[in-house]
Amino acid sequence: MPVVETVGPLDERRAAPSPAASDGAALRKFGALPVPSLEWNAEVERQTARLYERIKNVVPSVEWPFFAPYVKAINAIKKERNAVILAHNYQTPEIYNCVADFVGDSLQLAREAAKAKADVIVQCGVHFMAETANILNPEKTVLIPDLEAGCSLASAITGEDVRMLRERFPGVPVVTYVNTSAEVKAESDITCTSSNALQVVESLGSERVIFVPDQYLAKYVAAQSKVKIIAWKGSCEVHERFTGDELEMIRANDPSVQIVAHPECPPDVIAASDFTGSTAHMIDWLRKNRPKRVVLVTECSMADNVQAELPDVEFTRPCNLCPHMKRITLPKILDSLLYTKEEIVVAPAVAEKARRAVERMIHLKS
Ligand code: SF4
Repeated sequence: MPVVETVGPLDERRAAPSPAASDGAALRKFGALPVPSLEWNAEVERQTARLYERIKNVVPSVEWPFFAPYVKAINAIKKERNAVILAHNYQTPEIYNCVADFVGDSLQLAREAAKAKADVIVQCGVHFMAETANILNPEKTVLIPDLEAGCSLASAITGEDVRMLRERFPGVPVVTYVNTSAEVKAESDITCTSSNALQVVESLGSERVIFVPDQYLAKYVAAQSKVKIIAWKGSCEVHERFTGDELEMIRANDPSVQIVAHPECPPDVIAASDFTGSTAHMIDWLRKNRPKRVVLVTECSMADNVQAELPDVEFTRPCNLCPHMKRITLPKILDSLLYTKEEIVVAPAVAEKARRAVERMIHLKS
């Protein structure tokens, strides 16, 4: 059924709340480490050759002498720090394939963060993901290499907006996409990801559900469910730029191409696609179906990362870059480990309420 109502600010998208700067507590606790050599030489080449093998079909050999010294240094220092690196599917291939300990979509990274045993978790993703890691594992030190790595969805709604929705629709449960701040999660009944949004909405047994903040994911879920969905007018600045027309043109030129889209895309894009799913579901679908030519309608690095694993699949444009994900780089990850910055700490009262909503999702039976 279609979304029954979409609520939200009609004017310009509000500015993202500025994340608080670290107060240096992590640096005082762990201390700084000496800056390692970042020289490219035959020994570094030998020691990193195995890692370059993984990405040689997506990273030109001329770029490896810049990346390799950082890869070597990060992998050594993360052991010294007893740190674990979590990387989202939208991270660049040299991060995703060469320094990350765990990779995945938001749900997979949240699960890894919750069970991480290391002292330090470095979140190579965006700010809300680091908050989620801190919410789920508050004993650990959670770092993000760039504090400004935000998200247009997370900045589209505030905790106050959710309270307003609850007043306007009393008794209607609130399902919140994980791409939100901790304060928004704290006002919610349960969170969801693009992997499990339909399952979460239907798990509540309610005739109506408030679903925030992604209007397109809300429409995607509503189209598959009898639950009446009240949506919020937020969107992902990366996925909303695709259009059904451009995909139809690509298909007209090559009828054999397979189009795989993320559910944060507008409905005409989803209608023009052969498969729609979260980044994790897209990867599973590609592994299983091994199409010859694919348009991956999502962030560009995702195609590079899958291409590294499936060299026989050809990925064609369009794709869009996420400027927030691209703030994370190898030099910033190294700095993050050397100086234990930027630490993400969610206020305990907010974290406790947000944890209930996130854990309720994590413990849902699949
Ligand atoms: S791709 Fe979209 S939803 Fe993901 S972090 Fe970037 S802006 Fe946010």
